[in-house]
Amino acid sequence: MLATRVDADLIRRLPKAVLHDHLDGGLRPATLVELAAEIGHTLPTTDPDELAAWYFDAASSGDLVRYIATFEHTLAVMQTEEGLRRVAEEYVLDLAADGVVYGEVRYAPELNVKGGLTLNEVVEAVQEGLAAGMAKAAAAGTPVRVGTLLCGMRMFDRVREAAELAVTYRDAGVVGFDIAGAEDGYPAVGHLDAFEYLRGESVPFTIHAGEAFGLPSIHQAVQACGAQRIGHGVRITEDIVDGKLGRLASWVRDRRIALEMCPTSNLQTGCATSIAEHPITALKELGFRVTLNTDNRLVSGTTMTREMSLLVAEAGWTVEDLRTVTVNALKSAFIPFDERKALIEDVVLPGYASAL
Ligand SMILES: [Zn+2]
Repeated sequence: MLATRVDADLIRRLPKAVLHDHLDGGLRPATLVELAAEIGHTLPTTDPDELAAWYFDAASSGDLVRYIATFEHTLAVMQTEEGLRRVAEEYVLDLAADGVVYGEVRYAPELNVKGGLTLNEVVEAVQEGLAAGMAKAAAAGTPVRVGTLLCGMRMFDRVREAAELAVTYRDAGVVGFDIAGAEDGYPAVGHLDAFEYLRGESVPFTIHAGEAFGLPSIHQAVQACGAQRIGHGVRITEDIVDGKLGRLASWVRDRRIALEMCPTSNLQTGCATSIAEHPITALKELGFRVTLNTDNRLVSGTTMTREMSLLVAEAGWTVEDLRTVTVNALKSAFIPFDERKALIEDVVLPGYASAL
């Protein structure tokens, strides 16, 4: 049998699904330059290419706290309805250009109110931008469905408010919830009331865990808070010795709790040493419900095509492996089962079949 040559062009055309991607980490450099000029915000450079390089370097410092600090500039231009609409619309168009057919975008509305917008105005502006982007992508023949996860920032005190916002907009494009921000020192159980409230309202949620902080953060996210997915979760490997799973790792694998893994982002924050050695490959082999994600496309200088290409080139992944993580993502997406099933059967599997 002739092996299919897996090149970047083939990978770009494959249908993809991304569950973990931050709106404020994925702006186009040129848009950031333009919007910053409009409001008089000073950037490290006004050349889009240099700005992209600056982001990558600043985010590669190996420090999650510094990585998060790079968001100061993107957030500066996301304080008006026009800014939010434009960023959200371009977000969708960039996903479509990358071959993504299903995406979940996340952001924390509480970080977009410095210009005087209310939380509700923030959510509505983003949803308008996403809807405009989806309409344009569909008209261009590259339809992509995008659902929103609202985040609370774990180091601040507005998590419960963000959870209430997710309930308010659950029938208007918001499909779930997350908490983001520095893990270390801000345990998920500090926001237990918000998670209990969301469970009571039957709103699904994921929690950033097992990235900067180890196994206890994953245990808390899954067992105390009841997260249906884990953001990153790379440090679940600390509960696996010589291929043998401990009780928490078994729970995560056996209950099919998805791991939203983001290889390039993990290299930048220092919680993985190389693409070849990134735990995503071993966890996939062990049968975990592994998904592949970009985390922050501008900050990490990446796309889904790039993440997939890196795994193929450096970790020996095949097109079948790419299909597996894509189907995994849709199985664990927060939209209704019938819509997930239709995307898998009508879009993803035929797309891979025609590529192979
Ligand atoms: Zn993240």
